[in-house]
Amino acid sequence: MGKITGFLEFDRKVESYKPVEERVQNYKEFTVALPEKELKEQGARCMDCGIPFCHSGCPLGNLIPDFNDAVYRGKWEKASEILHSTNNFPEFTGRLCPAPCEEACVLGINEDPVSIENIEKNIVETAFEKGWITAQLPQNRTGKTVAVVGSGPAGLAAAQQLNRAGHTVTVFERDQKPGGLLRYGIPDFKMEKHVIDRRLAVLEEEGITFECGVHIGIDKMAEELKEEFDAIVLSGGATVRRTLPIEGADLNGVVQAMDFLAQNNKRVDGIKDLGEEIKATGKDVVVIGGGDTGSDCIGTSFRHGAISVSNFEIMPMSTADRPEDQPWPFWPMRLRTSSSHKEGAERFFSISTKRFIGDDQGNLKGLVTAEVEWIKTPGKRPQLKEVPGSEKEWKCELALLALGFTGSETTLAEQFGITMDQRTNIKATEDNYMTNVPGVFAAGDQRRGQSLIVWAISEGREAAYHVDSYLMGDSKLPLKGEGDLPRV
Ligand SMILES: Cc1cc2nc3c(=O)[nH]c(=O)nc-3n(C[C@H](O)[C@H](O)[C@H](O)COP(=O)(O)OP(=O)(O)OC[C@H]3O[C@@H](n4cnc5c(N)ncnc54)[C@H](O)[C@@H]3O)c2cc1C
Repeated sequence: MGKITGFLEFDRKVESYKPVEERVQNYKEFTVALPEKELKEQGARCMDCGIPFCHSGCPLGNLIPDFNDAVYRGKWEKASEILHSTNNFPEFTGRLCPAPCEEACVLGINEDPVSIENIEKNIVETAFEKGWITAQLPQNRTGKTVAVVGSGPAGLAAAQQLNRAGHTVTVFERDQKPGGLLRYGIPDFKMEKHVIDRRLAVLEEEGITFECGVHIGIDKMAEELKEEFDAIVLSGGATVRRTLPIEGADLNGVVQAMDFLAQNNKRVDGIKDLGEEIKATGKDVVVIGGGDTGSDCIGTSFRHGAISVSNFEIMPMSTADRPEDQPWPFWPMRLRTSSSHKEGAERFFSISTKRFIGDDQGNLKGLVTAEVEWIKTPGKRPQLKEVPGSEKEWKCELALLALGFTGSETTLAEQFGITMDQRTNIKATEDNYMTNVPGVFAAGDQRRGQSLIVWAISEGREAAYHVDSYLMGDSKLPLKGEGDLPRV
């Protein structure tokens, strides 16, 4: 695989970013790709390691050494075939994945890992540019119909796999356009939306029908769906946001991150009538929550023209290096600094927000925090303790709550009579992804809780295999890591 001595000859390189002052002027992606020669060298760094741990690090089981080798040899079309054999949408993961494969790369034990994600992105972009990605229509139609509820990465992956198996698939989406959080959560500067539209055009040509603006459970009831379709996949995401029930939480200017991000993405898309405008322009902004959502709020606030952006995280600051108790090849909880953080945000750790302060018009003008300590007792969950005398007041006219999601909505599950777990995720085990209601399956964040795009695609693919088996008695669709070749 790769060049035998590649990892000794070449250092890790990744795409660079346009300067901050230039990129915050608009919502365009701002990465600068490596030239082809350097991408081939990066492919050459992949070692002929006996057991490619990257396979198991990737939830899709991507055949990474194989496509790295193809890139090193300049065989881009072959690389695209290998990549697409396990991943329906590498243009999403190549831009947005935190790359657990790179954390599991054998070279990463004592060197910088192979730049797998950048290679992936360049393979799929080359493939689109050269016209190698075309609609793959099934040879035969089975006469069976499947409804997919929710058009995020899980629903889209399930739909494409089931269509490939010959079933007639309809995707229902309550929002204006398909894509789920890819479209109305993740900002354009991380992924421009024509990237989704380009793939949707292929899916439509393959025969998948999209019905947008249809809220299943309201516009169309569970019973109707059961009557009209032979099987149903629920992939509605984990949309219930965590709140911060403290004094002043109802002030104007205390806003849920998803309201802020979704409105902005729609504005960038040219959609009008978005209700009351939520803007960070000319404000001191505090983003509460240190994950991906918080990071996206930071980048969006800078593009609005915020005066300052502070980011609070209740957990202590991790080290940038891999912690000793989280050894290779596991996913380490290390400090991650996003491109948005680098646009000028100040980050504060071990900090808890105690109350919001308003003016006499009911508008947010500040907030009060305290420093916290995490007390560790063996065998118990760490306990949070406030540091006495550490209260601090901050000036702030916009506070964005990016505190994660507690689970999925229950209405539709109740209509179907589906059992949920304690976290309000739909109960459906990985054995067959089927709920307690025969013929109704679940995949993505709605089944596993808030997670990642790569997991959503993986779940969509796995669920599709089980739906196909349920409908046909057996399935030739691939399971994780098997590629698209029929199983023997
Ligand atoms: C702001 C933000 C940034 C993120 N950034 C990253 C990142 O950089 N990298 C990464 O890997 N992950 C990221 N994630 C996580 C990732 O987006 C999700 O894990 C992934 O999108 C889940 O996919 P899904 O298909 O399960 O659900 P979703 O993407 O949530 O899609 C669910 C869809 O179902 C629709 N729906 C729900 N109920 C119904 C109904 N009853 N009828 C019709 N339609 C319905 C919703 O409108 C939605 O479109 C981010 C998440 C957020 C919130």
